[in-house]
This record gives sequence, C-alpha cells and structure tokens, in this order.
Amino acid sequence: MDIRVRALETLLIDKGYVDPAALDELVDTYEHRVGPHNGARVVARAWTDPTYRAWLLADATAAIGSDEGFGFSGRQGEHMVALENTPQLHNMVVCTLCSCYPWPVLGLPPVWYKSAPYRSRAVIDPRGVLADFGLQLPTQTEIRVWDSTAEIRYLVLPMRPDGTDGWSEEQLAKLVTRDSMIGTGVALTPQALAAQQAST
Ligand code: FE
Repeated sequence: MDIRVRALETLLIDKGYVDPAALDELVDTYEHRVGPHNGARVVARAWTDPTYRAWLLADATAAIGSDEGFGFSGRQGEHMVALENTPQLHNMVVCTLCSCYPWPVLGLPPVWYKSAPYRSRAVIDPRGVLADFGLQLPTQTEIRVWDSTAEIRYLVLPMRPDGTDGWSEEQLAKLVTRDSMIGTGVALTPQALAAQQAST
C-alpha cells in the first residue's frame, strides 16, 4: 500500500496535478493540528462553564467551529451535534454506511471505527460492543446509538468524573479520551489518569 501511494503521489506531482507543499500542509494538519485534544478542550469547557455547555448542546456547530467558540472548523465538521451523557442515557456514535467522523474535533477515525464489525454490531448489540471495549454500564442506563448521516457529525459529551471539583479546564481535558467522545468509553477517573501518567 505504501508503495502504491508513493507511486500515485509521484505521478500526480510529475503531471502537475497536485502541489507537494499542499500535500505537506494536509499531512501536517491531520498529524498535529486536529485530533482528540481539540474535542477534549470542548468537553472540558462544557464541564466548567454552564453557559458554554448550553450553547454546545443547542448549537454545537457554532460552539465548536465559530471564532467565538473554539474555531475548530473544516471538513467533516460543518454540521455538528453534541450528545450529552447522563446516568440515565449513554450515547454512542457510529457510521453504519462508511466512516463519517468529526475530523476537526477528533482527527482521523481509528481503524476499528471504519471496520464492518463495529459498524454492524454497534446498532445490533451496542451493550456487547461496549463490553468489548471494557465498559460495563448499569443495566438501567439506556444506550442510544447515533448513526452519522451524510452531513451530521456527532460529539459525545461524556459525564464529568467524580473527584474533579475545582479542576481547571486544562486539567480536566486530560481526562477526556477519544473513545469517551465517540461513546465507546467514558472519561478517565483522576485515579486512572494518575496511573496512566505513572506508567509513561
Ligand atoms: Fe460515513
């Protein structure tokens, strides 16, 4: 695959169809500038700022993408919807058709998100999929699965973990994992974060 991509890239550049500088810019964007760290900042602000949280839930596109919000805009983020998790309701996102994913806040999708088993089982047996991810939710918690459409991209707003009173937005953002914003996980507890930091 690498060789095929390289051959295609060389051919397109030789023929003058693409500018290598533009390709470098794209790679740099998706390697460094967009990623789950963006979504984590959105979630952390929603946890600490009730006004922002209300805005995010009412108009996620503006709260995330506008200059007054975070300015995280671009392809695959034109129509955003935020889904709030509660003790009663857990939201989980899939694209059953392909791999639609909110790039500006989460970066590029993980391989499993694009896989046929995830895409089919997420809607047939969401609780089983969550168990595969090591997540056991209380049986009384409803799981709602959201199928991305051709335009809409979802961001799950996970529940704020206990024991984080008084934490800054920056500290809280460290608890927000990519999977917690897809709904295949929950935010880290302070203990889990400490254990993770100790092991790296
Ligand atoms: Fe898709």
